Amino acid sequence: MSGLNFKCKDLGFACDFEVKGVATREEMVGIIKSHGKRCHDLEAITPEIEAKVSKAIKGQVA
Ligand SMILES: [Zn+2]
Repeated sequence: MSGLNFKCKDLGFACDFEVKGVATREEMVGIIKSHGKRCHDLEAITPEIEAKVSKAIKGQVA
């Protein structure tokens, strides 16, 4: 299966949110940011969080 995958757990949250098969990195980051804001009070994505997010995104761009 192509596309990018992400599990919120990989950021260290006790959270079952996951995303599968996203075509682009930009879209994936957007989804993660809105989820983080809504569910984890992440108002700003710091460079530290950005780095964690990058590592947590798995898979290949379609
Ligand atoms: Zn989450």
